[in-house]
Amino acid sequence: MIMQSRMPETLVSEVTHTRPSAVTLADGLYIGAGEPVVLMAGPCAVESYEQTRAVAEVMARLGLKVLRGGAFKPRTSPDSFQGLGEEGLRILRAVADEFGLLVITEALGVEHLPLVADYADIIQIGSRNMQHYPLLWAVGELDKPVLLKRGFMSTVREWLLAAEHIARRGNERILLCERGIRTFETATRNTLDTNAIALVKREAPWPVLGDPSHATGRADLVLPAARAAVAAGADGLLVEVHPRPEEALSDGAQSLPVEALPEFVDHVAGIAAALGRGIT
Ligand code: PEP
Ligand code: MN
Repeated sequence: MIMQSRMPETLVSEVTHTRPSAVTLADGLYIGAGEPVVLMAGPCAVESYEQTRAVAEVMARLGLKVLRGGAFKPRTSPDSFQGLGEEGLRILRAVADEFGLLVITEALGVEHLPLVADYADIIQIGSRNMQHYPLLWAVGELDKPVLLKRGFMSTVREWLLAAEHIARRGNERILLCERGIRTFETATRNTLDTNAIALVKREAPWPVLGDPSHATGRADLVLPAARAAVAAGADGLLVEVHPRPEEALSDGAQSLPVEALPEFVDHVAGIAAALGRGIT
């Protein structure tokens, strides 16, 4: 099927993939193509060892495999917490290794990439950087999976072409992540585009994740948005979780308290099961 908005170029992804195809995250852990839904969870920003460990401990108990956390944060205001930098990466790695988890964290710029790649198993490209082409080229040269967030003002076509920039450098371990787009609606932080999840599942060979935290901006809407993403076909979720959301240095209002995680996983697992999928 050819997307109506699509340009005449032949996409690398169309030539090289028999779809749908799963992406290998680690030995024995795959995402996409009917594999279990991968629930990546953790704080928006790494703030301390204790804070990160408190989330990871619960995740490991629940059988989750991928710990998220920002060390270099793209903040709208320069006065907001910018992340712990390398110290944050060290914390993430130490905590993940203790519990046998993988690390996903954002690379904010080309200059940070070698450092981030030293610590991370999966590189996150943030929404604000979706069209940062030198960064896309640089992650395209890496031998690590890359999660490419959709720009909050970007069309699906622009998003898939950004993924092409990565693929053409040779890295086809791409994960697409719909994290909500800006619309006329201001009642929620963004609008989760479940159409895009379903569409991209049909049009692109890569796994798709939903980010119900940034899509809604409200902790009480994260579960219904997560269910909607999985129901639309998402292969994974990226969810913000904090031991004390009211004290979080970033995105506290949308962070699930860690004690809510077991029930959250249970409810999302119900939707996944209805689609014949597991969750991990
Ligand atoms: C994040 O995942 O914390 C983040 C900064 O997300 P986004 O790039 O989608 O705003
Ligand atoms: Mn965040």
